[in-house]
Amino acid sequence: MHELALAEGVIGVITQEAGRQGFTRVRLVRLEIGALAAVEPEALAFCFAAVARGTASEGARLDLVVLPGSGWCLDCGQTIALPRRGEACPLCGGYKIQVTGGDDLTIKELEVD
Ligand SMILES: [Zn+2]
Repeated sequence: MHELALAEGVIGVITQEAGRQGFTRVRLVRLEIGALAAVEPEALAFCFAAVARGTASEGARLDLVVLPGSGWCLDCGQTIALPRRGEACPLCGGYKIQVTGGDDLTIKELEVD
């Protein structure tokens, strides 16, 4: 359960911020997820709600924004859009692609009380 670990990480960061900034209630959490992070949005939302119980994030709305992945094709030397890991370069059909973006998860915004 990769999503459970991610949800725990997100809640951990928010709980730390709550202590530092002094908020007690989170209304909205906006997360950016790279398309290559292999995150199942529904599973993440489920895990988030479960892990948030008893924390400042309990009941918070989760807004997931999926960002496209990007890569660098070694065969044609171009930056390309990469919808999925392991796909061929859309320009030359090569497979020597270095992922340059879209494989991480970022807390983009928090709405708090
Ligand atoms: Zn290429």
